[in-house]
Amino acid sequence: MIEANNPSLKTWIEVAKESDFPIQNIPFGIFAPEGKTPRPASRIGDTVIDLSALCDNGFFDDLEIDNYGVFYSPVLNDFIELGKPIWSAVRNRISEIFSLNNKELLNNEVAKKSILYGIDKVDMLLPVEIGDYTDFYSSIEHATNVGIMFRDPENALLPNWKHIPVGYHGRSSSIVVSGTNIHRPMGQTKADDALAPTFGPSRLVDFELETAFITGKNSKLGEHITVDQTEDYIFGMVLFNDLSARDIQKWEYVPLGPFLSKSFGSVISPWIVTMEALEPFMVDGPKQDPAVLPYLDFEGKKNIDISLQVSLTPEDGEDTIICNSNFKYMYWNMNQQLAHHTINGCNINIGDMYGSGTISGPTPDSYGSMLELSWKGTKPIKLKDGTERKFIQDNDTITMRGSATNGDLRIGFGECTTKILPAKLK
Ligand code: MN
Repeated sequence: MIEANNPSLKTWIEVAKESDFPIQNIPFGIFAPEGKTPRPASRIGDTVIDLSALCDNGFFDDLEIDNYGVFYSPVLNDFIELGKPIWSAVRNRISEIFSLNNKELLNNEVAKKSILYGIDKVDMLLPVEIGDYTDFYSSIEHATNVGIMFRDPENALLPNWKHIPVGYHGRSSSIVVSGTNIHRPMGQTKADDALAPTFGPSRLVDFELETAFITGKNSKLGEHITVDQTEDYIFGMVLFNDLSARDIQKWEYVPLGPFLSKSFGSVISPWIVTMEALEPFMVDGPKQDPAVLPYLDFEGKKNIDISLQVSLTPEDGEDTIICNSNFKYMYWNMNQQLAHHTINGCNINIGDMYGSGTISGPTPDSYGSMLELSWKGTKPIKLKDGTERKFIQDNDTITMRGSATNGDLRIGFGECTTKILPAKLK
């Protein structure tokens, strides 16, 4: 077992029982303490750990890292470039420093002051510089629901769906960190019975409940990453709200796929949870039938039991949980997605991001978008305040949460939240 994953480990930092960040998590992120430059961090409970300050105080000296400058960088890309053995060694070292019986930092008040911050005292920033962004479409329940609503209930899945992890190349410039609010987009839409399109604010803004993984190793153009090799290329995961304007999407997507309906802002959670921390939660995925082509074949447990939740909060209102889903429902796993992505020789880079596609489960309360929850607007969603929603209204806040639990151990992602602001009409 990875020592930092030991479920019996305890820490001298206070951690609430329901925290997503016990000492067994040790995620990585970028934060800016007040008046200071952005820098790498980890987190235990509600305490943010400044990795540059740990480095200043010599806590990483025995790790034999080639470039200690990575702990002072405003993005994690350089740290990630050091490779999987170093991610692992740093995570284990942080775990050691904060273990209950370790007094090396505990008794050093001066060092503690420079290293530890309350989460409410700092801003979390985008953890990596995202080069390329790809979005998949890998939930069979989601693809089936969309097929039933927009095409043919008898042939809901297109003929390629069970053979290829379908995806498209998205836009990385508009990916923002949780807490960033997004304006309702303007765009072209056309009603079915209208002769011509009109221009105005989208009326059908939706969330897509997704996770995303971030790659931690470059590959060369012309090279293929096999399913087995993908383990070395995936650094970790975040929650991902792939905001979508359904009315713009419907008019623009033929024949090349979504364009402006998906690029007005997409939101990720700030803490990258490592694949190591998620290792105790691996499960089997759905049976793939028909059998996949050999280059997509895999062995072992490749899905992860991560329960996912979405809540909608009206302006000055109360939260209503409108979706409970789980990452384990995914038909295609991340390893297959990455193997497929590179089978043509497409190269990938450190910091690239890959969305799972909307994660819907088998029951109507587990659908991962308002399009499905309200079934194209025909079944409005009831909120606690008595109002109803078909899609997101101005000043509604969408919050996604995700966590994996196993006995007393809970590894979570924190929140991915955004408020939809009114359109900028001029
Ligand atoms: Mn999406």
